[in-house]
Amino acid sequence: MVRKIAILTSGGDAPGMNAALRACVRAGLYAGKEMYVIYDGFRGLVEGQIKQVNKDFTQDIINRGGTIIRSARLPEFKEPEVIQKAVSILNDFDIDALIGIGGDGTFRGLNDLANHGIKVAGIPATIDNDVGSTDTTLGFSTALNTICDCIDKLKDTSGSHQRCSLIEVMGRHCGDLAMNAALAEGAEGVICVEHPLKPDVLFKRLRHMKAQNKSHAIIIVSENLLDINELAKTISEQTGFEARTEVLGRLQRGGSPTAHDRILAARFGAKAVDLLINEEVNQVVGVRNNQIITTPINEAVNMKHEHTHGLRDLIDRLE
Ligand code: ATP
Repeated sequence: MVRKIAILTSGGDAPGMNAALRACVRAGLYAGKEMYVIYDGFRGLVEGQIKQVNKDFTQDIINRGGTIIRSARLPEFKEPEVIQKAVSILNDFDIDALIGIGGDGTFRGLNDLANHGIKVAGIPATIDNDVGSTDTTLGFSTALNTICDCIDKLKDTSGSHQRCSLIEVMGRHCGDLAMNAALAEGAEGVICVEHPLKPDVLFKRLRHMKAQNKSHAIIIVSENLLDINELAKTISEQTGFEARTEVLGRLQRGGSPTAHDRILAARFGAKAVDLLINEEVNQVVGVRNNQIITTPINEAVNMKHEHTHGLRDLIDRLE
């Protein structure tokens, strides 16, 4: 029987991690379990940074961005002796089960622990939304709203100067942030892995807009796909718009989670605890069509995220 459950947050921080931590701790305490937190992700685990917590620990954190138990990256976690060390620490603390809150890398670390006999559950949290076993990860909604907020402000200034703004957003391998932001902002263009740059189409559209004396243009670009400064230079040379670049960077990670992320965190956290209590171990939680689902972690780590169905076509029709 599971009596003691520990929780860690790992990988890039995402708004909603604290709300998920709160839900896990409270659902566990409600079920009569001893609840523990591990600071600094897998690194803190191998260092034994483990502390028992009560309900007060989770007071006033539901609305806080980041993660109060901090996150870290530990690339060495793939090495057998490091995993073995983590297993020994959990055994020393008499921890029966571990909940990991993070992205697909975090799930791989949890899967390795499961392969060494640790009972685990995973909660998807990463702003990129690049986890295959869920439609939506914690943090995605908040990051998208942050991006939209920044673009709304940029529109004011780029409109006043008749500029084209090229805005770089996160999501190197997954264009969900870029495509959803493009839809939400009515952007003139979006460039991401699922929707690559078509220079002729883009430049023709911008030239046409300039001829129509449109006040500004917004182009959203996923990070690390191309050199946006070079693209801005070409746009300035070829379309008549003065193009400027804005890299939103880590701003996208911060901020108070949206109500959507907080509620999803509550549902994910409660489900993760239920799984462990009911001995349905080594699963990750997710959401499909607004239903909470579970997937064996060894399958989840091999699943590829499908970007929102039909989004690309919708963008092409509305650009
Ligand atoms: P995000 O995508 O938001 O950054 P993530 O969980 O995918 O979140 P990663 O840095 O990829 O972030 O992974 C977090 C941690 O998980 C790593 O620092 C490492 O400790 C562990 N990890 C990642 N990949 C593996 C792996 N293949 N095997 C074991 N552990 C891993």
